Amino acid sequence: MGAPEAFTATADIGHWIAGQPTPGTGARSQPVYNPATGAVARRVRLAEPADVAAAVAAAVAAQPAWGNTPPIRRARVMNKFLALLNEHRDTLAAMITAEHGKVFTDAQGEVARGIDIVEFACGIPQLLKGDYTDQVSTGIDNWTLRQPLGVVAGITPFNFPAMVPCWMFPVALACGNAFILKPSERDPSASLFMAQLLKDAGLPDGVFSVVQGDKVAVDALLVHPDVKAVSFVGSTPIAQYIYETGARHGKRVQALGGAKNHMVVMPDADLDQAVDALIGAGYGSAGERCMAISVAVLVGDIADRIVPKLAERARTLKIKNGMELDAEMGPIVTREARDRIEGYVATGVEEGATLVVDGRGFKAPGLEDGFWTGGTLFDHVTPAMRIYREEIFGPVLACVRVKDFAEALALVNAHEYGNGVACFTSDGGVAREFARGVEAGMVGINVPIPVPMAWHGFGGWKRSLFGDLHAYGEEGVRFYTRQKSVMQRWPASIGKGAEFVMPTAK
Ligand code: NAD
Repeated sequence: MGAPEAFTATADIGHWIAGQPTPGTGARSQPVYNPATGAVARRVRLAEPADVAAAVAAAVAAQPAWGNTPPIRRARVMNKFLALLNEHRDTLAAMITAEHGKVFTDAQGEVARGIDIVEFACGIPQLLKGDYTDQVSTGIDNWTLRQPLGVVAGITPFNFPAMVPCWMFPVALACGNAFILKPSERDPSASLFMAQLLKDAGLPDGVFSVVQGDKVAVDALLVHPDVKAVSFVGSTPIAQYIYETGARHGKRVQALGGAKNHMVVMPDADLDQAVDALIGAGYGSAGERCMAISVAVLVGDIADRIVPKLAERARTLKIKNGMELDAEMGPIVTREARDRIEGYVATGVEEGATLVVDGRGFKAPGLEDGFWTGGTLFDHVTPAMRIYREEIFGPVLACVRVKDFAEALALVNAHEYGNGVACFTSDGGVAREFARGVEAGMVGINVPIPVPMAWHGFGGWKRSLFGDLHAYGEEGVRFYTRQKSVMQRWPASIGKGAEFVMPTAK
């Protein structure tokens, strides 16, 4: 592959309302950085409640016709969108690298996993089929159908500016809803690009809108009476806030939160495979993934064998501008996030963990103003330490040593988060016990980042998910539709006289 084309737009980024780009009504905006250079690349407008109201009004006007469009015709729009996404996938990936910082090949992977959900959405008519029972009572039939909710909203995090919105809107739209997306203000371009592609695919104006912004826009969505459901992905404190506030305003809410994903390495694991897995899952995307592995649980004597190998690899990570194709890790999304991560490294040292590799102060040559930090590795981390308990969301891997499998499992299960988890072993019995007994929503057996495929649904347990239904897959279809049961009979089968008793099957 030749060098990819960088995304270099400089114009202000606005909203997408009623099928058109618009700067909105407000005067507020904030910078969007290129994390590799540290320079302000462009500015993003921040929506006011009036902008949210305009997007909701457009959605309310457009949704009934879209909801009445036969599912197969809605799916055809998704099919065209799928073709356009495929055509422009590298443009989208370059946009992600420019604003998020992750390496281009990883951004391509993000786009590919988003496309998976669009492909799933193209087949959603199959899942909208109802159930039918002939003759529930003599002359009476009963069936169920699933109908769209109306206008729904999605609020998404910075770390997957294309994939996480794709967990939501293709499913919601294919089910017949109108969708309003409030993307992260740190990397807002991908969502606007997808809005244009949806329009080009034939989606009616108003069915999909994007409001850029911060808490002001989020709060306006959470209290708007015409928004029937909210999907959220982001950090746990905000997820809890969204869940509680949305529910208080009568909305259906699924709010996916933060994580502290453990990978248990059993003494019988293949050492090199476990090292590769920990390095990729710990430092890929600079650890800014909700499914990143941030804790290595080293069982028995494997610790002394694996830590030196991890250290060697962490020290030699290729950290550079993500547009360079051999880059393994890019910069951190913002200066504040980088400083917070390096602050955690200092905390770990104060808490008494062994700092094996110190990534602080790393600078990519020629890009000294970028938001860089290197890979950090801690050993002898204990459950009482903040660097163990809290989500750092950076390239910091903490090794915890335990004596046996039972202690490893108990450790994982005691953590407040339960998003993803992995176990590396060659023992099928241990693997089975782990998968059955672990308290987490997504489990990998010799798979470090077990992000479920498009039709299986994504979601954690414990404080990693507020609500019950997971994102995308069949659970996503259930979230964006409501069930209606219809019972029917015809005059010939209706007996004479009023019935005062509870109807039973006759
Ligand atoms: P964040 O919680 O800061 O922001 C997420 C969204 O909420 C953004 O759109 C933001 O504008 C909005 N927001 C922020 N503060 C708000 C407030 N006070 N009131 C209302 N809205 C607010 O998260 P982030 O930093 O963008 O993303 C990283 C976090 O997301 C990590 O904690 C990561 O684990 C989590 N995440 C979770 C999943 C998952 O599936 N569980 C996936 C990706 C990311």
